[in-house]
Amino acid sequence: MKLPLIIPSLCHLCGLTIDSTMSHQLWCQHCQDQMTFQVKRCRCCGLQTETQTVTCGQCLKSPPPWQRMYCLADYRYPLSTLIQQIKRQKRYWLLPPLARMLRGLIPHPAPMMVTVPMNWHQYLLRGFNLSEVIAHEIAKSTPQTQLMSDIFHKHSRTPRQKTLDKAARLRNVRHAFSLHQHPKAHHIAIIDDVVTTGATVRHLSELLREVGVEKIDIYCLCRTPNDSIKSPKPQVAHNTRK
Ligand SMILES: [Zn+2]
Ligand SMILES: [Zn+2]
Repeated sequence: MKLPLIIPSLCHLCGLTIDSTMSHQLWCQHCQDQMTFQVKRCRCCGLQTETQTVTCGQCLKSPPPWQRMYCLADYRYPLSTLIQQIKRQKRYWLLPPLARMLRGLIPHPAPMMVTVPMNWHQYLLRGFNLSEVIAHEIAKSTPQTQLMSDIFHKHSRTPRQKTLDKAARLRNVRHAFSLHQHPKAHHIAIIDDVVTTGATVRHLSELLREVGVEKIDIYCLCRTPNDSIKSPKPQVAHNTRK
């Protein structure tokens, strides 16, 4: 009698064998715990705080144009590795389980969700928009929430955000997006994969505010801590003339 061949599942992050009771999962319990470990965060900007507080000093002093930010974790290992795998190796199937974990943190989803658009050549290169995949997955468990993926338009020919410093990112996004349709909701959630400086979601929130949206939430997988935001490398002059 032939015994069935049992191939153990391997964790997509650390490569170790997944316990047979969790073989339906993409990652092992240890990696899963690291992804969902909750720390003290400002409810508004999503950045970590030293003490248990609702709103950090910076948000009290200068409130962002949104009310609440929900994120799974900081943009560090293991989520940073997973997001790089999703983007560079097009492993889009890793996104829905992360979106479901994020959904678990949101007790009362907004009645409307909107996504951050990509321009057409970015979309052609990657083949999918992370923001849209996350939003579709969250929408599956919230049938009362309307999902609008084409409310914003992203213009071409704006420099990539990661090539710019913080001030330049803020200036850059002001030319990068425009509002395509007027939403018919007073409470809207903007879905993004990673919030780095917050320049993009700030501008999108301001566009929604201008047309009368009263309450805005941000749902993102990761929040980049301020000390991890890299400055762009200075341009090296190649002119050798003296
Ligand atoms: Zn693992
Ligand atoms: Zn804050």
